[in-house]
Amino acid sequence: MTDTQHTDQLTFQNPVTRFPEISPPQQDQPEPGLDQQLAPQTDRGQHSYRGTGRLEGRRALITGADSGIGAAVAIAFAREGADVALSYLPAEEADAQEIKGFIEDSGRRAFLFPGDISDPAFCTTLVEQAVEALGGLDALVNNAGRQIAVEEFAELPDEQWTQTFATNIHAIFRISQAAVEHMPPGSTIVNSTSVQAYEPSAHLLDYASTKAAINNFTKGLAQSLAPQGIRVNAVAPGPIWTPLQVSDGQPKEALPEFGKSTPLGRAGQPTELAPAYVFLSSPESSYVLGETLNVNGGMPTP
Ligand code: NAD
Ligand code: MG
Repeated sequence: MTDTQHTDQLTFQNPVTRFPEISPPQQDQPEPGLDQQLAPQTDRGQHSYRGTGRLEGRRALITGADSGIGAAVAIAFAREGADVALSYLPAEEADAQEIKGFIEDSGRRAFLFPGDISDPAFCTTLVEQAVEALGGLDALVNNAGRQIAVEEFAELPDEQWTQTFATNIHAIFRISQAAVEHMPPGSTIVNSTSVQAYEPSAHLLDYASTKAAINNFTKGLAQSLAPQGIRVNAVAPGPIWTPLQVSDGQPKEALPEFGKSTPLGRAGQPTELAPAYVFLSSPESSYVLGETLNVNGGMPTP
């Protein structure tokens, strides 16, 4: 839908109408889902994000960078002057290749690392390979996540609980620990949490718990790494239209109403998240640590 809408993020405009209200048809994709098969399509800023040199020469590893918010962050980082290593699942190769193309069209380098971050060994390998390809590492965005809605508490499988924690929070610990030993002072870590950290939905108990953990981990790790000159922050998105939502992230009947209950009255588009990650990764936020920046269309948060 928004392929025809190319207003950049710095243009003065009404946030209510910047993107049209969407009523996604009921649809289903096997986890993890592809942006390429999403209806309507998302806006990841490929036609609109305008860089202003805020990440010049930086070397970034972004997880879940093939689609949705991570893809929008990868495109924005490249336009701001960074080279990017993209982590994603092997089934998402088509989405990842597309984002690689956008990054290269922006004049930056992109490196692809398919693999499963719920595997502890892969977390280490991913960081080592990214460091080698990029020639170092000074920005990490822990954005990958899985979200599977289960209506009844009694039916939440133990295997799902374990796998959601392995992907959403254990991997953040492992990837961050492996990354920090390579990071010079001035480096940054930004974690993707969620409004679910404060307002858990009954059908997302495992997911929401991991997001609360990510907020807490962010505040603790920020204190731990501050003396080294490494800043850690988080971004908490509200309802954003991405493949996460159609690969069992929401009950099917909820899709047409997705995001409409926010004060802005519409779902967010992935590109609307990118400036928050850019800000928290850029040297301009030098005194911002342990912060969670909410980007949620106006939902009140603590
Ligand atoms: P998305 O599906 O586009 O991105 C999630 C990515 O996580 C996938 O592309 C996949 O590459 C990666 N991933 C999942 N399991 C993995 C695994 N085992 N190994 C490696 N990679 C794996 O959806 P998104 O909405 O852009 O999600 C990005 C982040 O934003 C997630 O952490 C999500 O929890 C968070 N978030 C999204 C919303 C929303 O409404 N879309 C709201 C709040 C928070
Ligand atoms: Mg994906």
